[in-house]
Amino acid sequence: MKSIYSDLKDQAWQANMEIPRRGLAIYTFGNVSALDADRAVFAIKPSGVSYDALTAADIVVVDLDAKVVEGTLRPSSDTKTHAALYRSFQASGGGIGGIVHTHSTYATAWAQAGMAIPIYGTTHADHLAEDVPCTAVMTAEAVRGDYEAETGTQIIDCFRTRNPREIPMVLVAGHGPFTWGKTADKAVYHAVVLEELAKMASITRSLDPHAGRLPDYLVRKHYERKHGTGAYYGQ
Ligand SMILES: [Zn+2]
Repeated sequence: MKSIYSDLKDQAWQANMEIPRRGLAIYTFGNVSALDADRAVFAIKPSGVSYDALTAADIVVVDLDAKVVEGTLRPSSDTKTHAALYRSFQASGGGIGGIVHTHSTYATAWAQAGMAIPIYGTTHADHLAEDVPCTAVMTAEAVRGDYEAETGTQIIDCFRTRNPREIPMVLVAGHGPFTWGKTADKAVYHAVVLEELAKMASITRSLDPHAGRLPDYLVRKHYERKHGTGAYYGQ
């Protein structure tokens, strides 16, 4: 009998396969999940399975407490971080249906430096109107606790004053990026965009360590023409 989660697992599998294809991860690094908000479950990559061996049948379905609902493999070790974010995003108005975690090189370099990515240019402003935030460094106490759930808390704390629907990405200090979107595909798109923004920002900074942020009027123009009420831009 066909599982009621077949479509969800397929979405998650296809989105996961984009991760190595886009050069965002090697070996088993990285994971993507896809949410079914009505059923309050999400599908996620299993732990320790390399992308070239991954099939849709391997994808694990878990509830929002990260308990396995369907699947024989162990879900990704980052599953509790995904669960914490879905719970928080649902509580703050929903609209987020996919999450990605990678250790993509440039975004991870900024995370390791513990630095937000400054909004240096219009490529960045086309996607978000402020710096890509970086969380605080996790305390020893949080690491000793439920580490993966605490990683979620670290991100949620960082978004107390930010809107996750306007800023679909974050750097976890000392670790790497998480991105999200309306769908798992959109979350992968944001992971690719973030890596490119991080790369451009790294080069900008190496050319001029004192490079300034894009002026606010240009940030607004670029962000609003794509995301504002009168959005008209597409390329
Ligand atoms: Zn990680």
